[in-house]
Amino acid sequence: MSAKYVFVTGGVVSSLGKGLAAASIGCLLESRGLKVNLMKFDPYLNVDPGTMSPFQHGEVFVTDDGAETDLDLGHYERFTHAPLGRDNNLTTGRIYEQIILKERRGDYLGKTVQVIPHVTNEIKNAMRKVSSNGADVTIVEIGGTVGDIESLPFLEAIRQMRQELGREQTVFVHLTLVPWIAAAQELKTKPTQHSVKDLLSIGIQADILLCRCDRNLGREMKQKIAAFCNVEERAVVAAKDVPSVYEVPLGFAQEGVDALILKYLHLEAPEADLVRWKDLVDRVHHPKDEVSIGIVGKYVEYEDSYKSLKEALTHGAISQNLKLKLTWIEAEGLEAQSAEDRSYEAQLEDFDGILVPGGFGKRGIDGMLNAIRYARERKVPYFGICLGMQTACIEFARNVCGLKDANSSEFDPATPHRVIYKLRELLGVEEMGGTMRLGAWTCILQEDSLAQRAYGGVTEISERHRHRYEFNREYEALLTGAGLRISGSTPDQTYVEIVEIPGHPYFLGCQFHPEFKSKPLEPHPLFREFVRASYRNRLARKESLFAQQQSA
Ligand code: GLN
Repeated sequence: MSAKYVFVTGGVVSSLGKGLAAASIGCLLESRGLKVNLMKFDPYLNVDPGTMSPFQHGEVFVTDDGAETDLDLGHYERFTHAPLGRDNNLTTGRIYEQIILKERRGDYLGKTVQVIPHVTNEIKNAMRKVSSNGADVTIVEIGGTVGDIESLPFLEAIRQMRQELGREQTVFVHLTLVPWIAAAQELKTKPTQHSVKDLLSIGIQADILLCRCDRNLGREMKQKIAAFCNVEERAVVAAKDVPSVYEVPLGFAQEGVDALILKYLHLEAPEADLVRWKDLVDRVHHPKDEVSIGIVGKYVEYEDSYKSLKEALTHGAISQNLKLKLTWIEAEGLEAQSAEDRSYEAQLEDFDGILVPGGFGKRGIDGMLNAIRYARERKVPYFGICLGMQTACIEFARNVCGLKDANSSEFDPATPHRVIYKLRELLGVEEMGGTMRLGAWTCILQEDSLAQRAYGGVTEISERHRHRYEFNREYEALLTGAGLRISGSTPDQTYVEIVEIPGHPYFLGCQFHPEFKSKPLEPHPLFREFVRASYRNRLARKESLFAQQQSA
């Protein structure tokens, strides 16, 4: 069978959830036993989002092969089992980089290199490459909004794909907005009509319309949209706002999106098996209790910077029928005025667990160290990820081992005690112009450690990385002598991957980013166990409060 494609475009406004829509379509097709792959094209000129600020772009999602990609790939991984990597996210910058490289090499044999056909060919080749790995259906999301100048080459490329492959191999899914206008007490279809017209003017007739709306679309509304936009009535899909993103596939299934895609693609597949997704959503709606986690970081006012983290914590909570109450705390707000000043503690008292996530740069570090000290001393479950692991080591070196100036050379290059340093620079492993340790690395777990118990007793795991600095083993003896345990390392023992404090209910820092591998139906063990420990702490605190009240 030759490769089939679902092309997902967006209209009217950005942020309608195209990535989630693409991921949900993937989820539904996969639940019918089909093999799917997903890819995203981003129209901006950066070669990848690796160098973009989290405020600009949100999280950088890292794949096993070490590609720094758009956060929509995170949705794809959470909703499907598609094997994603470098080839699954391409920007205009990357496409042009490849073309210019070929041009300099003389590959174009003296021809004029142009947007059509050279850029569009490069885009089409990228799609073919991804679809050639045996997927029944490849879902291609085109970033940006129809009407943007910069997304035109991508839209032209998918138009050509339809022309070349025919209707039975390609479906155009267009995501639009049907806003409720309060003054008129009416849903309005005009923006959708215009957006479909914009697409048509460049040669693409949408097949399926996913209409974002805050309430049901009545039959008449659907008929009207179908008539004006030249699609079947049942191809007008109400994509209603839902409280949990994990409800989106179920909503699409109810509206018949997967059945329609199969019909258009002339594919046959069994009914979707959504039992586990239904159970998941059911648990989201009926939690037995809640658990309160405080995240101490520096990009906290923009939640998209920690997209996967938030999802992974949610998975951990759902797995235990708990509702996750997340509080984002700006680390700078936890800084102390003097060594004796512990006033910041008041801001931390209400949390069942504390987490310091990944991050770059010096801002807010002192606040993070204070939060970690609080968690360590008060036996509040602590989970440190990447930067959060490094700061946990610095805190331990300073406050337990008495190395007052212990630091990372990232924050103080002149520190006398660089507990965290740029090991790779010393080893001379700066590949591809970058010093980052990226992508999947194997880690060996120590017997009978908190980490090994969390991972279910295995000794070898693989997790994804995105960082420059490492634990400095010159300080290993001192820190472990004082009670820190190194419970995970790379097989050659070069890099420290996990530290923990035995005897503490849950104090674990990992150099990798486990959040990238958590799925709602397969919650990551470290998040699951962190949430479990946090909830235990909650119950214990409640009990002691109750005991206090009784004795008063
Ligand atoms: N800034 C730290 C480093 O580069 C941590 C990076 C991160 O948390 N992703 O090593």
